[in-house]
Amino acid sequence: MSVPEADWQAATELLARHDDVVLTCHVGPDGDALGSMLALGIALRDRGTKVRASWGSEPFEVPTAYASLPGLDLLVPAADVPEAPGLLCTFDTGSVDRLGSLADRVPAATDVLVVDHHMSNTRFGTVNLVDPQAAATAVVVVELLDRLGLPLTAEIAAPVYTGLVTDTGSFKYAATTPAVHELAARLLATGIRHDVISREIWDTASFGYVQLLGAVCSRAVLEDQDLGLVWASVDVDDYARSGLGLADVEGVIDVLRLAREAEVACVLKHDPSDGSLKVSTRSKGRIDVGAVCIALGGGGHRFAAGFTSYDGVQVALQRLREQLSRAPHLPA
Ligand code: 5GP
Ligand code: MN
Repeated sequence: MSVPEADWQAATELLARHDDVVLTCHVGPDGDALGSMLALGIALRDRGTKVRASWGSEPFEVPTAYASLPGLDLLVPAADVPEAPGLLCTFDTGSVDRLGSLADRVPAATDVLVVDHHMSNTRFGTVNLVDPQAAATAVVVVELLDRLGLPLTAEIAAPVYTGLVTDTGSFKYAATTPAVHELAARLLATGIRHDVISREIWDTASFGYVQLLGAVCSRAVLEDQDLGLVWASVDVDDYARSGLGLADVEGVIDVLRLAREAEVACVLKHDPSDGSLKVSTRSKGRIDVGAVCIALGGGGHRFAAGFTSYDGVQVALQRLREQLSRAPHLPA
C-alpha cells in the first residue's frame, strides 16, 4: 500500500508551483514529526523557497534532545503562521485535530500536502503522501526530495536520521527493513554525527528526569487484565518536583513496557496546559493498540498509539480496559 504514482506527481507539482510554504506537524512534536518537517524545510529553503515551520501546541519550545538540529531557525510561533497559507504541508499528522491551534489553517489553505505514515491517516490534504509501510514519515520525505531532484545534504540528513531512529526505536522495531538500513547508510555517508544525535535522543536526560522515572515507576501498577497491563501516571507533582514538562516525559513508556508480565503498557501523562491526560500505549505485538486507541478517540500505529482524555486517570483506564478486553489477540 505505498503511495500511488499520481499522488507523487501531484505533490511535486505543488512544491514546484509554490514559493512560500508553511510546514506544520502534530502537537507535542516527537523526533519524526520535527525531523521530517525540518528536513523538507531546509531543502525547500536551499532552493529559494520562503519557509515557515510551526506547531500548534504550548509550550512552543524545542525539546532538549532536538535542540541542536539544523533548521530550527525556520520555526515561527503558531500565532505568526499566516491565516490562509498558499501551501500548507503537514508531517506525521494522522488527522486535522492533531494540529492543535493550527487545525484551522487546513480549510483556509489553498493547497494542503499531507506527508505521513499513519495507517489511520484521514487523508485530509488536497494531496496525500501517506505510506503506512514507511518506518517513519522521514522516509517519505526522502523519497519526496529524491523526486524533486533536491540534494540530501548533511544538514538535511541530520533531521531525517532523527526521525528514522525515533520511529524505529533505534532500528529495533518490526518496521526496520533492509531499505531502512540502506537509507541509514546513505544518511551516514553525508558525514552526520549519528552518535551525537542518538546520544541526545536515547542516552541523555537531566538528573530530574532520572528521579521522575524512579518516582513514576515505583507507583506503576501491574494488572492481569487481558494479556497483562502495566500502567503508571505522570502527575502534576512529578513535574513540579523535577522541573520537567509534558514534552520531557515521552520516554517513560519505554521503561514501563520492559515488564515482561504485561502485553500492553500505558502511561497517562497530565497535560498542565489544558488539564487533559495524554495517554500513551504500547503493545508487545499481540494486541493492536492502534485500533484500541482509535475506538477511544485517538490514533496511532498497531503497536504504539495514544488518545487524549479529559476525565481523569481512573475513567481513562477503565475505558482502556474495556477496549482491551474486546480486542482480538493477534498471533504471537
Ligand atoms: P506517543 O504515545 O508516543 O505519544 O504516540 C504514539 C502514536 O500514537 C503516535 O503515532 C501518535 O501520533 C499517536 N497518538 C498519540 N496520542 C494521540 C492522540 O491523542 N490522538 C491521536 N489521533 N493519535 C495519537
Ligand atoms: Mn512517525
